[in-house]
Amino acid sequence: MPYRAEYIWIDGRKPTALLRSKTKGVPDGQEPALWVFDGSSTGQAPGDESDCMLRPVKVVPDPIRGNSDVLVMCEVLNTDMTPRESNTRVLAAAAEEKYGDQEPWFGLEQEYTFFKDGRPHGWPIGGFPAPQGGYYCGIGADEIWGRDVVEDHTWACMEAGLAISGTNAEVMIGQWEFQIGPVGPVEVGDQLWLARWLLYRIAEDYDISATLDPKPVKGDWNGAGMHTNFSTRAMREGWDPIIAACEALGERAQEHVKHYGAGIERRLTGLHETAPWSEYSYGVSNRGASVRIPWQVNLEQKGYIEDRRPNANADPYVVAAMMTETICSKLAE
Ligand code: ADP
Ligand code: MN
Ligand code: MN
Ligand code: MN
Repeated sequence: MPYRAEYIWIDGRKPTALLRSKTKGVPDGQEPALWVFDGSSTGQAPGDESDCMLRPVKVVPDPIRGNSDVLVMCEVLNTDMTPRESNTRVLAAAAEEKYGDQEPWFGLEQEYTFFKDGRPHGWPIGGFPAPQGGYYCGIGADEIWGRDVVEDHTWACMEAGLAISGTNAEVMIGQWEFQIGPVGPVEVGDQLWLARWLLYRIAEDYDISATLDPKPVKGDWNGAGMHTNFSTRAMREGWDPIIAACEALGERAQEHVKHYGAGIERRLTGLHETAPWSEYSYGVSNRGASVRIPWQVNLEQKGYIEDRRPNANADPYVVAAMMTETICSKLAE
């Protein structure tokens, strides 16, 4: 029997790309092959030269359709098989190729906010909800909205074989987080984009949208980030490389912030568990620092660091490529 392959790719929208997907019927016994799409409808090509190629890079079981159906994460190529400008996966692949011997690992904390009927899910019509305080890791119908979507999404990620390592309700009303990792620089991007697609797709069935807007509600409400936990083999074995990694990030702080997601200055204000975007700092247990060394890591004098700056809408391929390059080039000295 033929099966359905859902081809998923990242479009060319600026400043923040969107996910796209379409379905292909694949004859029994065949693998999902190269496919083509209309790049002029996705901001990826001019109308008179609109064909773009989809190259499958990761195929997983489709947890929504079941049967033998699959999800196919793709990268976008030109018709001559060179990467399109929008293809940031090649950056992560190049960094991994160069520094793979240091065994870089990433664990991403993807925060996001549910919206229903144009308001954050749980926000009352024509009024204001209780100020934040009880929502984080909350329980009960007066604190929590959207848990059914979160449960379905977590299960779907597991069925698809993604390295989802946890979920929690967040500080702002209707806001949640899931974590992917730890896995390598390319893999973490492939998996996070697939997990984002699953989130949007599953929430659709509940008439809910999930947004990665870094600051979905102005004022005294937490923004949404993509805290990026990072280690190399040396960092997992000792303390000096942990400090060297924090220092290396400090040397290129502004360059990193520029590529950590659109609208980062709206979120990194210095309030709401953030450090101001224009200043760099690191510290043990400090959730007000740019980079945090977890308490346990200090205790054991080895482990990983958490870059708290990337926005929820950051591109994980870009973040992984930059952190690998900046830290591993320093540790190699
Ligand atoms: P927080 O306390 O900041 O909320 P979380 O528990 O949400 O932390 O996320 C921690 C993340 O760090 C997880 O995704 C986990 O997989 C990842 N992680 C754990 N150990 C390492 C490591 N050695 N290198 C990289 N990432 C790691
Ligand atoms: Mn977390
Ligand atoms: Mn969080
Ligand atoms: Mn965190």
